[in-house]
Amino acid sequence: MGKKLVITIDGPAGAGKSTVSKILAKKLDYIYLDTGALYRALAYKALNLNIPTDEVSSLADLCSNTKVVLENAGGRMKVYVDGEDVEEKIRTEEIGLAASKISAFAVVREKLLHLQREAGIQGGIVAEGRDMGSVVFPHADYKFYLDAQLEERIKRRHNELLEKGVSAEYQSIQQDMFIRDKQDKQREIAPLKAPDGAIIIDSDNLSVQEVVEKIISYLSVN
Ligand code: C5P
Repeated sequence: MGKKLVITIDGPAGAGKSTVSKILAKKLDYIYLDTGALYRALAYKALNLNIPTDEVSSLADLCSNTKVVLENAGGRMKVYVDGEDVEEKIRTEEIGLAASKISAFAVVREKLLHLQREAGIQGGIVAEGRDMGSVVFPHADYKFYLDAQLEERIKRRHNELLEKGVSAEYQSIQQDMFIRDKQDKQREIAPLKAPDGAIIIDSDNLSVQEVVEKIISYLSVN
């Protein structure tokens, strides 16, 4: 494949976007951009400073007083908040929920938009999130929407957190995921949805490898 493509992967929490995107980016020798990490990083700072996650003026202050930087670490874009590498600290469900709350505000989304576009400016990127194909990269070469049943997504997230050594109760993941999906789908700005022209992949009965192969089959066909 000659041209360096922009490939977007959107979908709800626990649909397997991160795992699939990482593998795909590696196979193609592309950059992997996890945009959820950006929202999580800001939410992490908000929680640390006890900043209300539902107050637009506090969030606007947070945005203007925070330096968020993306750095390419061997093909994977790493997030730094005010110089701090937050990668290991932002993966809890509590931060996921707070990220979902703050991400409904325009001031937050605008702060992070240019960082995401800049990362994809030269192509050769697999970008995953909620609004990759709809807002951030509307002219992406390929748009995918990865979905799975709620039960399956809860199970996956539960295993993922346990593997990372993060304590996680099935019931609370179920509740958090339900709330997060609802918030992400119903917000006014950049709601989670399959973007126009997206290829929808239902991953319920597919392994990670099968999803990756399916995506690659679309890339090579065209
Ligand atoms: O993907 P992840 O679970 O890390 O995302 C955390 C939250 O960040 C999501 O629930 C969503 O509210 C928000 N997000 C977003 N737009 C993106 C990526 C994530 O609003 N492109």
